[in-house]
Amino acid sequence: MTESETMNCPTCQMSVVTRVKTGATAQTHIIFILCCIFLCWPCAPCVYCCDTCLVKKHYCPRCNTFLGVVS
Ligand SMILES: [Zn+2]
Repeated sequence: MTESETMNCPTCQMSVVTRVKTGATAQTHIIFILCCIFLCWPCAPCVYCCDTCLVKKHYCPRCNTFLGVVS
């Protein structure tokens, strides 16, 4: 599920294999609220487990610089 990529870190000035963190976006929170209102609310937290609702944030493993988001 976590797919690291090789990117150039602007801080380290070298090619690094990124550290990936999946996270929720504003869209995820909107879907969560809509699920609470229109669907059965116990199912709502599932949006935070759903891969398509989350984005992958890439960080440099050396200096922790945020490198980019892959949705
Ligand atoms: Zn770096």
